Amino acid sequence: MLKLEDINFSYEKQKILHKINFHLEENEFIGIIGPNGSGKSTLLKNISKLLSPDSGYIYLDKGLLNEYSYKELARKMAVVPQDTEVNFNFSVYDLVMMGRNPYQDRWGRVSEKDKKKVEEALTLTDTKKFQDKSIQKLSGGERQRVIIARAIVQEPELLLLDEPTASLDINYQRNIFDLISDLNDELEMSVLAVSHDLNLISQYCERLILLSKGNIHTIGRVEEVITKENISEVYNTEVDIKYNPMTERPYVIIVPRKKNSYKRRENNFKVHLICGGGTGKDIMNILNDLNIKVSCGVLNRGDSDWEEAKRLNYEIVEIPPFAPIDKNAVEKNKKKIGNSDLIIVSNTPFGWGNLDNIKVLTNFEEKDILFMTNQDVEARDFTEGKTTELFEKIKKNNNVREINNNKELCSFINTNYKEILYD
Ligand code: ADP
Ligand code: MG
Repeated sequence: MLKLEDINFSYEKQKILHKINFHLEENEFIGIIGPNGSGKSTLLKNISKLLSPDSGYIYLDKGLLNEYSYKELARKMAVVPQDTEVNFNFSVYDLVMMGRNPYQDRWGRVSEKDKKKVEEALTLTDTKKFQDKSIQKLSGGERQRVIIARAIVQEPELLLLDEPTASLDINYQRNIFDLISDLNDELEMSVLAVSHDLNLISQYCERLILLSKGNIHTIGRVEEVITKENISEVYNTEVDIKYNPMTERPYVIIVPRKKNSYKRRENNFKVHLICGGGTGKDIMNILNDLNIKVSCGVLNRGDSDWEEAKRLNYEIVEIPPFAPIDKNAVEKNKKKIGNSDLIIVSNTPFGWGNLDNIKVLTNFEEKDILFMTNQDVEARDFTEGKTTELFEKIKKNNNVREINNNKELCSFINTNYKEILYD
């Protein structure tokens, strides 16, 4: 679809792009990332013929980019530039209609199809509600969505986007990337998108190009490019990489400069976690980040907490999907609890099927227990008061602490187990 061969580019005397080589397959979605000033916009402008390279070749399909007329090019590729400032006083509707220019005769007569395409694009980008407003009276984010609508009506085979979500709030960031992803999947548009938001683009594209000072530092699948080494080196800052279990894609987290000298240490501290239905996931990840060993139980196989515990390689006392807890599982659970230093009970609901998960605690009067009480126990008691009764009994006999949310959980563990967890 698109192929760049040894592209060099300079603004006046300053060389910006150095020997850029890559190709974009038909229907592929590539993201371009890199620090400010690394040449992302300059690269995109070369591809959209706004700038021409000092040397090298750009091929679009079989032909050289230079050989396309502007009208031909506008049917093949649409561009959403970084700067979407518009100097003329067009209405939103008229501006989007301009995207149909390459399909109109030289008198610019508007066909039914043109109207239909414009209507569709206004709806897709949620801009129909201000279609009669002047483009100049919109906010940056609204204007950005209008420019994306204009690109869509061009029905391009290749969509070039330069930071399409830079001034959008997270709801529209997601909408726009979902939309781009649909255009890629369903209308088979090839997409080349620049984004300064590593984490957003990484959830969507197939391959990434990481630019550093006008050079391709790395090109490859997202997980090959988003690595601790690559990102730390190119952005010159310390980061950590995690994986989003939903998309199975990596994301980058910033590691703030350390304010104190604590360092996590290897430890033998053990937690047993009683949870279910997804109420334990965040807790597992908090404990995992602290290098704490965790066992979970009793969990039904296939439960989302079971899946997360599996992913994290935790010991699990498990029973078949939807089955109630049996004697054998209770005994196994007891053993795990006996071996743990702390028990955490998530704010999971209790019914007759999993009541044994709470009953078992009455055997361990000497243990420290944390009850997550994001929600009152009465609201999660589906055992005609039996659960609530057990909670009260355990609170009386054990060393129980009620914790309201995950932040409180972090700070409780950090404060109370400091000596064990940190040097
Ligand atoms: P990015 O989009 O990655 O932030 P750009 O492609 O906009 O980076 O810019 C790359 C480099 O080229 C920067 O050093 C920038 O200052 C310079 N540059 C950008 N536009 C121009 C221009 N019109 N004239 C001269 N230098 C420019
Ligand atoms: Mg830029």
